[in-house]
Amino acid sequence: MSTPVSELTTSNAACPFCAIANLNPPESTTPNPETPHLLRKTDSTLTFLDILPLTPLHTLVTPRGHYPRIEDVPPAILAAVIQEVQLVTRCLHLLGPTIDYNVVCNNGESAGQVVPHVHFHVVPRTRELQDGGKVTGWERTWRMFAKGIRGELDLSEVEEIVGKVKQELEKLGNAGNGRDTTSKL
Ligand SMILES: [Zn+2]
Repeated sequence: MSTPVSELTTSNAACPFCAIANLNPPESTTPNPETPHLLRKTDSTLTFLDILPLTPLHTLVTPRGHYPRIEDVPPAILAAVIQEVQLVTRCLHLLGPTIDYNVVCNNGESAGQVVPHVHFHVVPRTRELQDGGKVTGWERTWRMFAKGIRGELDLSEVEEIVGKVKQELEKLGNAGNGRDTTSKL
């Protein structure tokens, strides 16, 4: 999937992910020694290890462009990012025979987003990776997305908002995912 150059020129001088992008331009053929955690790059995406990993091979996938949140990303670039996420997940068998994983994207400070450059976390999860199977001090983090600390969904409590969401999704879908259908994308 080719990406218009105009979509890749957004950059933020204070952003650590933009710095990785700038250190590793699409045309470079050798990895930059300043970014040894970079795993892969394309003309529109970067894949690198999280420098504060929750588990081994905790990986981040970002667009090159500085788009703060999911809703800001041109759909073609977002699609490219998700394809790269899938590539990472297809590598997780390298960690062991039964690797589960979370794919997480935090949007906004209240949701735990630290770097305001949209990124998807791929977090491998197995009991084997969890300190030999023992629940340790990172229990809360480990279970953040797991069943057990949450209540079951009660649709009756959210019936009204669910109805509104369904209507909005239909409206956006009919309008070409909410974007101008004459978009150059
Ligand atoms: Zn950035």
